[in-house]
Amino acid sequence: MEKKEELKLYEEWDKRYFWHPFTQMKVYEEEENVIVERGEGVYIYDIYGNKYLDGVASLWCNVHGHNHPKLNQAVIEQTKKIAHFTTLGASNIPAIKFAKRIVDITPKKLQHVFYSEDGSEAMEIAIKIAYHYWHNKGEKEKNKFITLSEAYHGDTIGSVSVGGINIFHEKYKPLLFDVYKMPSPYLEAVKKVGREKALEYKTTKLLIEEVEDFVFHLHQEIAGFVLEAGVQGAAGILPFPEGYLKEIRRICDEYNILMIVDEVATGFGRSGKMFACEKEGVEPDIMALGKGITGGYLPLAATLVSDDIYKEFLGEFGEAKHFYHGHTYTGNPIACNVALANLDVFEEENTLEKLQPKIKLLEERLKEFWELKHVGDVRQFGFMAGVELVKDKEKNEPFPYGERTGFKVAKSMLKKGIWVRPLGDVMVIMPPLVIKEEELNYFIDSLKESIKELE
Ligand code: PLP
Repeated sequence: MEKKEELKLYEEWDKRYFWHPFTQMKVYEEEENVIVERGEGVYIYDIYGNKYLDGVASLWCNVHGHNHPKLNQAVIEQTKKIAHFTTLGASNIPAIKFAKRIVDITPKKLQHVFYSEDGSEAMEIAIKIAYHYWHNKGEKEKNKFITLSEAYHGDTIGSVSVGGINIFHEKYKPLLFDVYKMPSPYLEAVKKVGREKALEYKTTKLLIEEVEDFVFHLHQEIAGFVLEAGVQGAAGILPFPEGYLKEIRRICDEYNILMIVDEVATGFGRSGKMFACEKEGVEPDIMALGKGITGGYLPLAATLVSDDIYKEFLGEFGEAKHFYHGHTYTGNPIACNVALANLDVFEEENTLEKLQPKIKLLEERLKEFWELKHVGDVRQFGFMAGVELVKDKEKNEPFPYGERTGFKVAKSMLKKGIWVRPLGDVMVIMPPLVIKEEELNYFIDSLKESIKELE
């Protein structure tokens, strides 16, 4: 078979057999799609050799670029030893070493690591641990969670239960457990004080009164307060006002509630710090990590817990206090070896230091979007940004959902050599951390141009 025919066949099979995640397959089948063959740094190449800048860091997880020699080496080295052996009752060196290393660099309070394969599972584990912790302590009435509207913690039943994006939540409602929901900090702040003052500390004080009032009345039944680490990512990059995370920590301390922080999207440099919690000096009781944990190479996630929590699970076998969770690939040694190499590269390449001027550049250049006719809001959190498209700026009127305006802009970006995936009508800027300033400038110029094409 000729090469061209073979590639056409793959395109056909892709549409016929491969059901893609979060994808309307009817639309996918009608469109031309990128089938990725390889990657190099911040670029991906499709099967026809077309080159695209990876504008979303392979859905927010790539850190040091694709095809990184050190990360490749970590995969190869471990594969030559053993690809996998169960960690139910056995262990492996990379998983042991990474557990020690991640405990060393996360907030001090977090002392123990439970592995999993992706962010959703890390959050499932966080919720199960929190629930089980109070159970083991004999405080069984503490079995409910407080969560935030617009939150995203994954797509499994437990993680959707603590999520708050309506389109996902409503669909599966009969399958979900009940939670108490507080307003999305950003959206509530905009409603109360307007966009310009939304992120100020004073706004936090206003929002927190309502949260504290709620907690005051119900804290006896609350196991944990679940929230993202300073920004609601999947909701469209909605940052928390200054001090919000810290105030939630104070409330959790005061009312004996576990603080469960989801750093799946923000962890490993995306916020500008290694972990977003560091920005406000917050130490959660439980922290979920995923995405960038292997630099975007392999599926690995982790749930870190305090010593106090861990100890509540200790006991004689017959007491049945131990944690009932664990998958076939929990603590996979190849993934853990890459996770170790990911941290090495952070140190060797001064990734975080080099990121700081790029965060500033992004901040400066984002201001230009306000001039555009169809931009209703522009938001940034570290090295992640969202540009919200609206039909009518004055009335803050969105484009109709079915028009897929965000995807139209994404298609135009593809023609300019940049692969992006919008969140509805929010254009996301989230390239690998190692992108160069000139590449970031090209990204922003192209996005501006593509949005202007809507006029
Ligand atoms: N938590 C947050 C904050 C996320 O942004 C995501 C994914 O976008 C998840 C959890 C779920 O992670 P995964 O897609 O790896 O299951």
